[in-house]
Amino acid sequence: MKLICIGRNYSNHIAELQNETPDAPIVFLKPDTSILLKKQPFFIPDFSDNVQYELEILVKINRVGKYIAPEFAHKYYDHIGLGIDFTARDLQEDLKEKGLPWEKAKSFDGSAVIGKWVSKSKFKDLNNIAFHLKKNDAIVQTGNTKQMLWNIDAIIAHVSQFFTLKIGDVIFTGTPLGVGAVATGDILTGFIENDEFFSIKVK
Ligand code: ZN
Repeated sequence: MKLICIGRNYSNHIAELQNETPDAPIVFLKPDTSILLKKQPFFIPDFSDNVQYELEILVKINRVGKYIAPEFAHKYYDHIGLGIDFTARDLQEDLKEKGLPWEKAKSFDGSAVIGKWVSKSKFKDLNNIAFHLKKNDAIVQTGNTKQMLWNIDAIIAHVSQFFTLKIGDVIFTGTPLGVGAVATGDILTGFIENDEFFSIKVK
């Protein structure tokens, strides 16, 4: 399986990192080895001094598909989740500056947190899902899918032009404003509305 990740999908996060607004979704992949195993802590890798959390709504693909039209995209997923796209920001800035791929900064072991899954039927409107991240006791990041530049169906339509989607693939839909660094001892807990989707310890 593969993890397909979208970059710069929230204008407030684009401004925060002083990036340009893209004309089309920015897409990168993480391998299955990047998934943080259940109940395991996240270990800050020694190649970075600035690992940041990016809280993101996740979508799990349940049908094989290619060239999926936006109006049929909803048939390709039943479950919504919440996760973190951990990013070694210092390394990413360095790679970006040189025009090099981001994988070393984005796709290292443990960099993909995938919380629990819930049926999409639990949500009244997938384009209005509020989510937030707590670091220790403070809320550090909040977002709502209504702020996305490309919604879930538009993302599926776009990425399926390039990659065949397979059952079990996971899409990370991008992060809103409020990314920040983690430190040893932090506990990160992710919520959709008031429902806890994951809780992980940083080591
Ligand atoms: Zn991200």
